[in-house]
Amino acid sequence: MKRRDFLKVTGIGAAGAATLAAPAIAQSMPEIKWRLTASWPKSLDTLWGGVEVMAKQVAEATDNKFQLQTFAGGEIVPGLQVLDAVQNGTVEMGHTASYYYFGKDPTFAFGTAVPFGPNQRLNQAWYMQGGGRELLNEFYKSYNVTSFLAGNTGCQMGGWFRKEINTVDDLKGLKMRIGGFAGRVMQKLGVVPQQLAGGDIYPALEKGTIDAAEWVGPYDDEKLGFNKVAPHYYYPGWWEGGPMLLGIVNLDKWNSLPKYYQTVLELAGQSANSWMMAKYDQLNPPSLKKLLAGGTKLHSFSPPIMQACLKATKEIYAETSATNPNFKKVLDSLNGFTSNGYQWFQVAELGYDSFMARNPQG
Ligand code: CA
Repeated sequence: MKRRDFLKVTGIGAAGAATLAAPAIAQSMPEIKWRLTASWPKSLDTLWGGVEVMAKQVAEATDNKFQLQTFAGGEIVPGLQVLDAVQNGTVEMGHTASYYYFGKDPTFAFGTAVPFGPNQRLNQAWYMQGGGRELLNEFYKSYNVTSFLAGNTGCQMGGWFRKEINTVDDLKGLKMRIGGFAGRVMQKLGVVPQQLAGGDIYPALEKGTIDAAEWVGPYDDEKLGFNKVAPHYYYPGWWEGGPMLLGIVNLDKWNSLPKYYQTVLELAGQSANSWMMAKYDQLNPPSLKKLLAGGTKLHSFSPPIMQACLKATKEIYAETSATNPNFKKVLDSLNGFTSNGYQWFQVAELGYDSFMARNPQG
């Protein structure tokens, strides 16, 4: 039966159907305006772009009834204080990297990435299917927030170095902009880690106040111009194999949100998550080509350096686990999932990727 015939038979025209449905929709779609504060400046169109995607989709899916008013880092609170602002209800929600709050409790690192953690695929699989979300949200509960997936950068680069780093000894005394957990691992190997906001890295590297700096990958790094002041570009960023960005929401605000809006918000987060990874996959290849054409020298960290970093990481995992049961619980879950995941990935995914990378198409 054609739609118009059906409407004729039942006696409900298009206008009648809309009238009948309206009360139910109105009840479940109140007008709500939330403030979202992000950790990013608007100039980072990959990370900030994910925030915009999320806000746009929430508005469109609710006929503009539910709106996220978005603020860049520094507009309401500094980029590294998003958690605090959401926790105390200054804003309803945020978009951030959980590992920025590593200083409060190292367990926060799992919401983004930990050294020698999984790649993007396995990290989000752990979060979505491996119990990661439940474990993290149980932990976040004591900070009065909850989380959902809302972005990923993919595996990051190891950063920019003014001089070549060949041996583990070359790391000793090196002043490097590298934060949180990775900074502590590097410290074990003699590096002097420095915490610097994005905008302060270039002048420090130029003046030689620091010898090295890590940021994200070719596209974001090129924007900040590090290639002009440090010629050696190392990979991989073993501390960020597949870092997740999360939407975090004040728990009371989340609980008071209509179920439909909760679903819309989560779906918009999923959408930002896919959008961001696709954006990086589109933008990084041409940026890397451009950097190499401009004289950047690409190096992989040597196997002894990688092994020394892994060893130092395991020591810190053991030390932290001994005193922090939350940390241990989440680490055991993630490590189990990652280890199983790579047993499978080394068969089909790695076999295929390795062949394809050596045999470019087109
Ligand atoms: Ca980084």
